[in-house]
Amino acid sequence: MAIKAEYIWIDGTEPTPKLRSKTKILQNGQEPPIWGFDGSSTNQAPGSASDCVLNPVFTCPDPIRKGDNILVLSEVLLTDMSPHPTNTRAPLAEVDAKYADQEMWFGIEQEYTLFQGSRPLGFPDNGYPAPQGPYYCGVGADEIYGRPMVEAHMSACLEAGLSLSGINAEVMPGQWEFQIGPASPLEVGDHLWLARWLLYRVGEDFGINATLDPKPAKGDWNGAGAHTNLSTKAMREGYDPIIAACEALAEKAPEHVKVYGYGIEGRLTGLHETAPWNEFSYGVSNRGASVRIPWQVEVDKKGYIEDRRPNANCDPYQVAKVIVSTVCSALESKGMV
Ligand code: ADP
Ligand code: MN
Ligand code: MN
Ligand code: MN
Repeated sequence: MAIKAEYIWIDGTEPTPKLRSKTKILQNGQEPPIWGFDGSSTNQAPGSASDCVLNPVFTCPDPIRKGDNILVLSEVLLTDMSPHPTNTRAPLAEVDAKYADQEMWFGIEQEYTLFQGSRPLGFPDNGYPAPQGPYYCGVGADEIYGRPMVEAHMSACLEAGLSLSGINAEVMPGQWEFQIGPASPLEVGDHLWLARWLLYRVGEDFGINATLDPKPAKGDWNGAGAHTNLSTKAMREGYDPIIAACEALAEKAPEHVKVYGYGIEGRLTGLHETAPWNEFSYGVSNRGASVRIPWQVEVDKKGYIEDRRPNANCDPYQVAKVIVSTVCSALESKGMV
């Protein structure tokens, strides 16, 4: 029996890459092979040398087509089989291998906003809904917009076997969040990119479009982030490495913000549960800090920290790479591993 394999990859759109996909028919049981695409249509190659290579990196059941059909997340290679310049997964794999002994885990909170036409779902055609307050984790038709789609997306992620750990309604009408992890750096990136693809794909069936725009409504409305929770083995076992990780992030703050998603200055304003993008702070329970130490972690004197800076539209491979580099090299040099 033939099956449908949906090859999914990250394109070269600037400043924020997009997801693309196309279908290859395979024989049931056949390993998904290397494939190709027209890079001149995805901002990844000139027309005169347009071939790019799709190299499968993660395969899972396809919850949309069901049966034996599969999703095939692929990294993009050049025809000499080296990583394409837009391939941010390959550099993460290198750093991940270097510090594998520290067993870094990530949990990423993906916020997003549902749109119908040009307005966030739940916004009236003219003017604005009632101010923020009741919507976060709310219930009722006057507060919640898009729940059937959100439920369908959650089920799809679970059927695909992604490490989804929860969902919640967010502070603006039509705004939601799902969490991926805790999982290893490559796994959290792979699963998050596939969960994003499923979000857009499920939205097609509802006539609703999800956006990762970090500031989808101007004015007194929260932006959309991708809070990145992180821990190494040493951080899960003691408090000194927790503080050392915060200090290391402080030292490298500008380098991090650069790869935390396009338009970060517009979201990290210091208002709406954010710290200013060009300052760094950390604190226990503080949702106005760049990095938050959850209160339970301070009580237990071990656990994880939350980097609240990454934008909803960030590339989790780039975020994970810079965090692994900064935190793991600092812990190593302090003899805390
Ligand atoms: P918030 O209170 O900030 O909204 P959430 O519950 O939405 O937090 O998300 C917390 C995330 O942290 C989850 O994805 C969870 O899997 C992840 N997480 C929990 N423990 C760890 C850990 N030790 N290391 C990394 N991530 C973790
Ligand atoms: Mn959350
Ligand atoms: Mn949130
Ligand atoms: Mn959070």
